[in-house]
Amino acid sequence: MNVYDSEQISKGLKPLQYKMTSSPEMADLIIVNTCAIREKAEQKVFSFLGRLARLKRKKPDLILGVGGCVAQQEGLNILKRLPYLDLVFGTHAIGRLPGMIERIEAKKCRIVDVEMPEGIDESVFSVDTEDRDRVASFVTIMQGCDNYCTYCVVPFVRGREASRNPEKIVGEIRGLVESGIKEVTLLGQNVNSFDKKEGLCSFPELLSLINKIDGLLRIRFTTSHPKDLSDDLIYAFKNLDKLCNHIHLPVQSGSDSVLKRMNRKYSSDYYLAKVDKLRNICPDIAITSDFIVGFPGETEDDFNETLDLIKTVQYDDIFAFKYSDRPNVPSTLFRHKISEQDKKDRLIELLKSQEYYTKKRNEVLVGSTQSILVEGLSKKQVKTDANSENIHQNIQWTGRTSTNKIVNFIPNNDTSFHDENFSGRIINVRIEKALSHSLQGIPTLDSRFRGNDII
Ligand code: SAH
Ligand code: SF4
Repeated sequence: MNVYDSEQISKGLKPLQYKMTSSPEMADLIIVNTCAIREKAEQKVFSFLGRLARLKRKKPDLILGVGGCVAQQEGLNILKRLPYLDLVFGTHAIGRLPGMIERIEAKKCRIVDVEMPEGIDESVFSVDTEDRDRVASFVTIMQGCDNYCTYCVVPFVRGREASRNPEKIVGEIRGLVESGIKEVTLLGQNVNSFDKKEGLCSFPELLSLINKIDGLLRIRFTTSHPKDLSDDLIYAFKNLDKLCNHIHLPVQSGSDSVLKRMNRKYSSDYYLAKVDKLRNICPDIAITSDFIVGFPGETEDDFNETLDLIKTVQYDDIFAFKYSDRPNVPSTLFRHKISEQDKKDRLIELLKSQEYYTKKRNEVLVGSTQSILVEGLSKKQVKTDANSENIHQNIQWTGRTSTNKIVNFIPNNDTSFHDENFSGRIINVRIEKALSHSLQGIPTLDSRFRGNDII
């Protein structure tokens, strides 16, 4: 979400003649987009801003701004705390940012804007047709969250849930496809409750509209809340040819008493029934999840129930976090806080128990042929190329399976392969090796003759 917001920020500043630079030293304007989800993310913001203060001392005309969730949460406090800062703007102020920058340029004033007007500001959603190198793009379809999980700061810093107009979303995606985008990831804190308030079209209906867009090859979305996972959405995985075979379905804990105190509004049995249904209807679907360890009052038994759930589901991959107290959220006041050491130990144990399944689910793919959408040269390759005369030697490409697994491949000995630009194409790759977080393969010969098929 922050990546997408940063893109909208930089697009909005183009009419003011600002363009991206490759280093902070060259910049006339630096905007730091921030995340407040855990304390550590927030601490990083302030240490980074401390480093930027040195730049500002050397270059007093440099405009320094802070946006995003920490800005929304702290507002004026940040300007008071950091005298070298020019601007603090919240999550609903991106559309007003160009006006603020113009005022700072003209009047050398300092500005705080953390207003959160109701509804969606469509002016911030526009397509950047200049960036033609990218294959995949994020598209925000809704803002905010009304779920109020007791540990979470999102409802406070991103405001009430509001969905964009389906026609506007489809229009934005059409524009992206015209500029070369092949895959979109629809974003929302709770994407599957899309349009619950507005009543124009349900999330599965939106997916079918997007599925009809010519030239678009793949659709992904994140994040889904288990309580809103309808049968229609489960069947969409089976029926919509462009919808990728992957769902991120955060469970947070396997203990019913912890889930209740988290206000997640489902039990572990309910969650497991959803997983069964997904796998019955769409057997190849990849399932990933988020977990919080050390929630206040989490006992050893509660934690063991979470480990049991991991064994039962056998996820493709997970993200896990140590519980972090956040300002204003109810769980901050809950008693029986878990010690830092216990949280750390539980996190290590949880990640270790998942490691086996991540590897296992990758290993079963060895020997199979997978359709992958190629995103470009692999990062390792891009680095080597900078110092290399001969970029065609051992060139390594990277892409993803429909199940969201990263596949790196080096074209085989058929030399005509070496000159091909695979970027943005769906090709077949035979999987040769499974590593812990990626796969390695070789394109099959038929890949050369495939156009932009939908897989
Ligand atoms: N809207 C999504 C994700 C929101 S934030 C959802 O409901 O699943 C991403 C993840 O951060 C959450 O799934 C949760 O695992 C984690 N998280 C949120 N607040 C946290 C906190 N206070 N401490 C630790 N992890 C947290
Ligand atoms: Fe936070 Fe997600 Fe819960 Fe909303 S649904 S409150 S974003 S964890």
